[in-house]
Amino acid sequence: MNLYFSTAHRWMRCAQSLTIPRRRVDYDMTAANEGTAVDWVIDKVLLGDASIDDMEAEIAPNGTEITNVMLSYAGQFIKDMQPILGDCESAETQAKVGFDKADGRIDFFGRGADHLVILDYKYGHNPVYAFENWQLLFGAFAADMGERTFSLIIYQPRAAKEYVIDEWFLTRDELLVYRERALTRMAQLSRGVKDATAGTHCLYCDHAAECDTLGHEIEVRARTMNDTMDLAYLRELQRMVKTRTSAVEADITARMRSGEYVEGWCMAPTYGQRKLTIDPITAQTILGVDTTKQVARSVAEIERLGVPADILDAITTRPLSGHKVQPVAPDDGHKLFGPPPSKT
Ligand code: SF4
Repeated sequence: MNLYFSTAHRWMRCAQSLTIPRRRVDYDMTAANEGTAVDWVIDKVLLGDASIDDMEAEIAPNGTEITNVMLSYAGQFIKDMQPILGDCESAETQAKVGFDKADGRIDFFGRGADHLVILDYKYGHNPVYAFENWQLLFGAFAADMGERTFSLIIYQPRAAKEYVIDEWFLTRDELLVYRERALTRMAQLSRGVKDATAGTHCLYCDHAAECDTLGHEIEVRARTMNDTMDLAYLRELQRMVKTRTSAVEADITARMRSGEYVEGWCMAPTYGQRKLTIDPITAQTILGVDTTKQVARSVAEIERLGVPADILDAITTRPLSGHKVQPVAPDDGHKLFGPPPSKT
């Protein structure tokens, strides 16, 4: 049985997710692969093996080509990490570590005076939270050398600005409570416990396309829907259906890519935006219209060029564009399938 830190959020709640799926699924892992490639750039730059400028168009070990955008995110990460790195007496990137029966890789960890920082780099757009994040917790269990305090951080450059750095601060006593839970769970899994629980952790589970537990949860919730259902309940149901839908799509994609015929479905080509096949100036001569335009950089892009934040703040504004209903507790992702945990 392989227990990985990166899937701990799932197997801590659902043992069934560890069984071998009947069929291979083919999720779109573009964001994850790009994130791994940015991690690789950061690692090389922090180790002094390359400078950011040298890395454009390089191919990362996972086959992803390094783009300018990725380099700007890597540069921004290194800049944002300065205050945290400055407080650390030692730091390590991409460390392969183990804790009890689980293994994993920590994107970054730093040790200061009695303080341990564990950081994971995410590349998706949807916010991932540090609070009760088992991947970070397992990183802390593995790297723990008796520190008194811990900062667990998710760094996510493509999320909305307020979510780019999400930090959860724990004391040693608090960490030990989670450590005990993790050890108990791993002991249960070793004994062969077979529980199955549906929840947010079903997203990207290899079983989600066929899993009865997830299907049953959706069915029960859809059946008990009535006029008095609140918005949070409906959003939970919507996310479960979305999880199932993306899993079924990934399953059908994998089957068709392996040559299987799936009735009613085909692999239709998708296209990017149209591009000129000649240079814009030649096109301008041929077409008689101006084919170029000057575009202002976004504030985020200007920020990534390394301008001082206080000057940028003084000359930028964020206009109110409207209002949208949202839960009073900001971390509505935590609310799925149960009450939101209180932040410590
Ligand atoms: S889909 Fe959800 S309930 Fe089913 S095995 Fe995966 S994590 Fe467990």
